[in-house]
Amino acid sequence: MRVVVCVKHVPDIQSPRSLGDDGRLVRGGDDDTLNELDEDALEAGLRTAEAAGFPGEGHDVTVLTLGPAPAVEALRRGLAMGASTAVHVSDEAVAGSDAIATARILAAAIAKLHAEDPVDLVVAGMAALDGLTSLVPAALAELLGWPQLTLADEITLSEGVVRVQRETSTDVEVLTAPAPAVLSVTDQAFRARFPNFKGIMAARKAPVTSWTLADLALDPATVGSAGSATTLVHAQPRPERPDRIVVTGDAETVPALVDYLSQKGFQ
Ligand SMILES: Cc1cc2nc3c(=O)[nH]c(=O)nc-3n(C[C@H](O)[C@H](O)[C@H](O)COP(=O)(O)OP(=O)(O)OC[C@H]3O[C@@H](n4cnc5c(N)ncnc54)[C@H](O)[C@@H]3O)c2cc1C
Repeated sequence: MRVVVCVKHVPDIQSPRSLGDDGRLVRGGDDDTLNELDEDALEAGLRTAEAAGFPGEGHDVTVLTLGPAPAVEALRRGLAMGASTAVHVSDEAVAGSDAIATARILAAAIAKLHAEDPVDLVVAGMAALDGLTSLVPAALAELLGWPQLTLADEITLSEGVVRVQRETSTDVEVLTAPAPAVLSVTDQAFRARFPNFKGIMAARKAPVTSWTLADLALDPATVGSAGSATTLVHAQPRPERPDRIVVTGDAETVPALVDYLSQKGFQ
């Protein structure tokens, strides 16, 4: 079985973020990290492949990222968790790509991997915690012409059929599609494993395949700002939240509360 897991290197959500002069998020800081939700995607990919015999002969779990040079660290983390191969797509012309242009590049990389050795599943996270569009998995499926099964909680792949279970607020749905298919997974069902020391050491030395747009036969005009349908018009830091007001006490504090609410326009 061959599984490709899309992983993104993102600014740590616990750290303060800043916008550059162009209004875009400043990336490439020391605390950039593998998108947490992609650890769940990798866990899902590993478990599905393991059920078929991974890491045995004829099985592969590839981690794939698109991003500047430091994004290789996301791949090293994926290798430490247990992925067997890693592909890094990087090219100066990619800067400014929106979600669809990003998907165009990732789809070309997946198509290249598929031509070399057929891919059964592509697994992505439910969102990248910096961009948060959740568009990339659906766009990948569309561009590859493969079925998409989003927000999966359970995955099985048997005899060329992918079966997923997904939970909505009212139902549990079971969907099937022929492989190859593109999946995204929720953050609920696939608690990511911690890499062990041996895995971390091996990942440091593991080879990573590097591709540019030329390797993917992609015209630079179809990616980056030029190839994006979205234009960033304006961005500014969110205003500071006002200090919280905590009202404690008994019935005597009710007038103060009523006064506060009426100041805020409640009648
Ligand atoms: C006008 C515009 C300009 C932008 N310019 C830049 C820029 O210069 N530099 C920059 O870094 N970002 C830029 N971005 C943001 C970037 O395009 C998005 O972050 C990216 O396209 C993915 O969208 P998302 O983060 O919302 O991913 P989502 O759709 O929320 O991600 C879902 C899943 O898709 C996969 N995935 C998403 N992105 C990648 C990736 N790069 N590699 C591997 N897997 C991935 C992951 O599995 C992820 O969990 C720009 C966005 C816009 C709108």
